[in-house]
Amino acid sequence: MDEICNLNSTYLFDFEVHRSKRKSLMLFIKGGKVEVRAPRFASTKWINEFVYSQKEWILGEIARQRRHFRQRLVIADGREITFLGRPRTIVVLVGPQQEVRATRDFLFIYTRKNTPEKIEKLFYAWLKDKAREYMTVETFKVARQLGLRHKLKDVSYRKTKSKWGHCCQDGTIQFNFLAMMAPRAVINYLVVHECSHLKYMDHSSRFWAVVESLCPDYREHREWLADNGHRFWSQI
Ligand SMILES: [Zn+2]
Repeated sequence: MDEICNLNSTYLFDFEVHRSKRKSLMLFIKGGKVEVRAPRFASTKWINEFVYSQKEWILGEIARQRRHFRQRLVIADGREITFLGRPRTIVVLVGPQQEVRATRDFLFIYTRKNTPEKIEKLFYAWLKDKAREYMTVETFKVARQLGLRHKLKDVSYRKTKSKWGHCCQDGTIQFNFLAMMAPRAVINYLVVHECSHLKYMDHSSRFWAVVESLCPDYREHREWLADNGHRFWSQI
């Protein structure tokens, strides 16, 4: 088992050193905690110099992780979420009915039981319904536009941490329904992306050429997802 050998506060952060059989130094940052993995007999001087040389990257990474934590999704009364890219304030109303309704500025969650679990469940079920309504129709439309309708078998929805969408060999396209929080142009890009996999099951240049034929701004949408995707998750 690793042992905590050193706790150093010379810089603007503390770090722990875990020694093992490894040959080189390596940095890990999780939840704002900095850890150095080091060879068993690495000198303190070597470790300190290494950490010092990486201080800008470390401080940047800590700040990034803190920002992502602050911006994580919290489904609760008074919090803000986006739906189709537009920020809306959540209003939880306790009563006999169970329903979720989006207006221009608000997301009303009517619930019988005011618990975080129940509110989350209602929200996710509603979001999945919205994804079915919008993305399924779009997917069939885009597959038709690309002349690939015969290859599209089905469209289904899941909430996965790692992917926005997936195109299976049998022609089933799966989407992460959390995508419904993104702007419409970004959702449309995801649809075009997965439909293009009905033609090419890779990310080759000919695949991107198909994407670009229907979505010339795809680079911008990819970048948007990389910059904002963390806002759609309740756990970082
Ligand atoms: Zn892909």
